[in-house]
Amino acid sequence: MKTRKIPLRKCTGCQEMKDKRELIRIVRNDEGVFSLDTTGKKPGRGAYICKNEECLKKAKKSRGLERSFKTSVPDEVYESLAQELKAIEEEKLRQEIEASKKGLWE
Ligand SMILES: [Zn+2]
Repeated sequence: MKTRKIPLRKCTGCQEMKDKRELIRIVRNDEGVFSLDTTGKKPGRGAYICKNEECLKKAKKSRGLERSFKTSVPDEVYESLAQELKAIEEEKLRQEIEASKKGLWE
């Protein structure tokens, strides 16, 4: 069987290989600042995680991010990641509600 060219990355939380688009890239730049890379183009060392808080919790518990970045990851980073993930999830939910509303009125 020929493998299709879907870029797979490993989630730091659940350790599963997933389609890159289902994951979020976390980057650490030269100044040591962590951020979420929603474009996939930010410079720096990166780690991938699923777009859900469960995996973030797992990554925190297993210290997966520390291992990926080979440095300690402060709690604030997890905090802001959790917040950004929440915002993404809420936005997704909002879009789903919008879509279902449209369906109702069409
Ligand atoms: Zn995961």
